[in-house]
Amino acid sequence: MNGRNGRSRIIAPAGRTEWQNWGRTVRIRPERIEAPGSIPELQRAVASAAASGQRVKAVGAGHSFTGIAEAPGLLLELGRLQGLLGVDAERGQVRLLAGTRLHQIPELLAPHGLAMPNLGDIDRQSIAGAISTGTHGTGAAFGGLSTQVVGLTLVQPDGGLLTLDAGDPLLPAVALSLGALGVIAEVTLQCVPAFVLRAEERSEPLADVLEALTERVKGTDHFEFYWFPHTDRAATKANTRLPGTAPRKPLPALGRWVDESLLSNTVFRATCAAGTLAPATVPPVNRIAARLLGGREYADFSPHVFTQRRTVRFREMEYALPADLLPSAFEALQQLIQESRWRISFPVEVRWAAGDDRWLSTAHGRDTAYIAVHRYYREDPAEYFDAVEEVMLAHGGRPHWGKMHSLDAAALEQRYPRFGDFQAVRDRLDPERVFANPYLDRVLGK
Ligand SMILES: Cc1cc2nc3c(=O)[nH]c(=O)nc-3n(C[C@H](O)[C@H](O)[C@H](O)COP(=O)(O)OP(=O)(O)OC[C@H]3O[C@@H](n4cnc5c(N)ncnc54)[C@H](O)[C@@H]3O)c2cc1C
Repeated sequence: MNGRNGRSRIIAPAGRTEWQNWGRTVRIRPERIEAPGSIPELQRAVASAAASGQRVKAVGAGHSFTGIAEAPGLLLELGRLQGLLGVDAERGQVRLLAGTRLHQIPELLAPHGLAMPNLGDIDRQSIAGAISTGTHGTGAAFGGLSTQVVGLTLVQPDGGLLTLDAGDPLLPAVALSLGALGVIAEVTLQCVPAFVLRAEERSEPLADVLEALTERVKGTDHFEFYWFPHTDRAATKANTRLPGTAPRKPLPALGRWVDESLLSNTVFRATCAAGTLAPATVPPVNRIAARLLGGREYADFSPHVFTQRRTVRFREMEYALPADLLPSAFEALQQLIQESRWRISFPVEVRWAAGDDRWLSTAHGRDTAYIAVHRYYREDPAEYFDAVEEVMLAHGGRPHWGKMHSLDAAALEQRYPRFGDFQAVRDRLDPERVFANPYLDRVLGK
């Protein structure tokens, strides 16, 4: 385990090293980059930067598409603060260092027979980064990752530690706080007994999927679908939770490689590149892809089923809508694409989550459906995303904090009932805006 005795490593003292995010939408030379090796080192790094008037930002895996992790001042890299700090077997709770990557967690939990209740599409993110932006998976009865947080320790501008336990009135603000309230040092998660997921993935007529949507979403633990633009088909994924002792039928390694590495990544990368050069190829290629993907059943431990590898680089916008408005928003989106000249190679992804109590959660106070649109990173997403955003806003949408959108604090305030309360907590915990950056100036105000 990292994070016990290390010394803070100064990686780039004078703006010499460049940092960029996964989606290649942010590129910056921070004034300084440090990688603390312990929580006391992290406290010292924050306190000394803040005392000298430098802004401070911790980054995770850089998997946000927005500038939320942009760190013009001191960039804190938490790759040396990873691992398990403790397990409360009776409660099924685990304490993790903030820089722990999601893909490391299953191995840390396995000896204790535990698992995270739900996950998103990939597992490259850090736990602190994932909860801070409201990362979610799918499942009408399940909240996003921040709802799994039952405790958290935050480093404040003076280097002091603020520890919040379950039931603390500030936890719903801090567990999903955009990196705006301090640097998270450790997180306590409520886990569940390890479980197996039975996965059914199919290629189906879109009309059939839409017709039985409510029953499928409510009747399946984790349901989602991908619609291939310019086609009338969708790839559906329906995952059912089984006890950890249930027999597993993992995908054979070759089959998984063909589906995920070859078809979903290598061939898809080539077709995206071809679509950029020759947009007319996109509709026929989508029709083939819509039939090829899907059509497999397997059962495996939950992390192997929830998450996949994504190596084709893209940009994404995702909006959270009141779940009952999904059909009308989706229909408007279909019409928009049909009437446009765009050739969209990436499928539109539709997912669900239960309403929750996190003040800045995209699912705050309402059962939610998510619509996500993507564009290959070599294509300009602006026209497509702007038009889709208009549809989503007209349906009461709230943008994912880590994915592209154009809203500012004035617009967001209208969409979050606890926005003002969050601002009051921010004024109290970070009055000097040590943890601000240009993105936070825009979405929260200065
Ligand atoms: C390929 C891909 C797939 C994705 N799939 C999904 C998905 O299925 N569902 C979904 O909801 N999202 C998804 N996302 C979005 C992603 O989960 C979020 O943007 C997430 O925040 C990224 O985590 P990260 O560790 O990379 O954090 P970063 O992007 O590095 O940082 C995000 C925020 O967290 C803050 N932060 C990081 N560490 C700390 C800390 N220790 N203390 C305080 N603040 C901190 C940063 O300052 C920043 O504000 C996906 C993104 C990509 C690129």
